[in-house]
Amino acid sequence: MARLYDASAFDAAVWTGSHWAATAPPLAPFDPLPGDARADVAIVGAGYAGLNAALELAERHNVAVTVLEAAQPVWGASGRNGGFACKGGAPLSEPAMRRHHGAEAAQEWAAFERDAVDRVRDNLNRYAIDADPGPEGELCLAHSARAARRLTAEAGPGDEWLPPEALQERGLHAAGSHGGLFRPLGFPIHPLNYARGLARAAHSAGARIHGDSAVTALSRDGSDWVLQTVRGRLTAPRVLIATNGYSDEALTPFLGGRILPVLSAILVTRPLSAKELAAQGWTSRIMAYDSRRLLHYFRLLPCGRFLFGGRGGTSAAPAALAAFHTPLRAEMEAMFPGFAAAGTEQYWSGLVCLTGSGTPFCGEVPGAPGLFATLGWHGNGVAAASEGGRRIAAALVGGENRAPAVTRTPPRRFPLPALRRPALRAGMALARLLDRLG
Ligand SMILES: Cc1cc2nc3c(=O)[nH]c(=O)nc-3n(C[C@H](O)[C@H](O)[C@H](O)COP(=O)(O)OP(=O)(O)OC[C@H]3O[C@@H](n4cnc5c(N)ncnc54)[C@H](O)[C@@H]3O)c2cc1C
Repeated sequence: MARLYDASAFDAAVWTGSHWAATAPPLAPFDPLPGDARADVAIVGAGYAGLNAALELAERHNVAVTVLEAAQPVWGASGRNGGFACKGGAPLSEPAMRRHHGAEAAQEWAAFERDAVDRVRDNLNRYAIDADPGPEGELCLAHSARAARRLTAEAGPGDEWLPPEALQERGLHAAGSHGGLFRPLGFPIHPLNYARGLARAAHSAGARIHGDSAVTALSRDGSDWVLQTVRGRLTAPRVLIATNGYSDEALTPFLGGRILPVLSAILVTRPLSAKELAAQGWTSRIMAYDSRRLLHYFRLLPCGRFLFGGRGGTSAAPAALAAFHTPLRAEMEAMFPGFAAAGTEQYWSGLVCLTGSGTPFCGEVPGAPGLFATLGWHGNGVAAASEGGRRIAAALVGGENRAPAVTRTPPRRFPLPALRRPALRAGMALARLLDRLG
């Protein structure tokens, strides 16, 4: 097993407490894979990506699909994120995407991101999932005058620049903000309700799902792949790896050194009173983030609690994760002094996944016929992983891969994979410094 962080971060027996876990209806556990089994398609990982692929395969392609999950479905990032169904699956801005990949590929990617948000809405409607969707659009708050200039220059058709007075009027006041860019795309949801709803829907559609079934080895047997778990063995001609930030890089040589899991952390306060909300000047349920390189994301939840998230440090050792609450809380109080009296009720973290080339991968692994992967959502996979899982499904039954071109090229390996964490630490220190300079 090869992973970049403390083993406890990948321990399927450890369930992180979270506001979502405290408020979502439970999901009945799925049994482990009991012995030898066969499927047309095997999926490793039951998060948004794996479950959407399973749904598409079971509903549209009518094939026998089996999902193997190390813990129970949606134990990974899909069960513990901020619930922003938004764009951002690749960190490049639209102009940068055009420069790096050409106008056509950039347009295709932008359309994918819009489709991805629609996909979440469609899933909620189609499977009658109650995930408490909030108002449409997302706001990026400028943390400096320079960021405000950059954001106004980036505004596209339909986007709206809101100077500080307009933010105040709309109940979107955070200390130190220099205005904000509102983009009318995306909406917030209860991410665990959504994720568990997908697991229920996939099961009802005929996908076999096994919990407590970590795939420990993947090997070739003629034209088949063999997936070994602790108690069983699944054979399938086609396999989809959908393990994102929780990937075991030793599972296949392809994964080694191509991904960078990064910690993200969230705190949720106790419910805020109407007086506290008014004193702060933040009464809107619009989802928001700031323009810092080490960005914060935040939103008022339907229950009146405030969610505030950010990068989660560079160590996943339990003591380091617990200690990280202090700086995150201080950053929240600096931006939202009016909420300082509202203690943290829940605090947790999880792993997102960056790739060596800054775009997700959604395609066949070169040199390994029948082996596919869909991962690398750069911390914005609620929508993108959902759509990525859907788009790759046709390729798993021998059809065309409908994922955007920028995701079909395998990500580059990081230059010195063993140094990814020290490099991340250095990069974050530099980003923090640049953020202070504006
Ligand atoms: C704190 C936090 C906040 C976030 N906030 C947002 C947000 O607001 N908006 C947004 O768009 N995105 C957000 N994200 C990112 C988003 O949650 C992810 O991009 C998305 O959930 C990825 O889905 P996935 O299905 O690819 O992977 P995951 O949901 O991580 O699922 C991967 C699964 O693979 C399983 N697995 C791993 N190895 C094996 C194996 N060998 N065998 C079997 N199973 C295995 C894991 O147990 C895990 O359940 C956030 C992430 C975190 C951690």
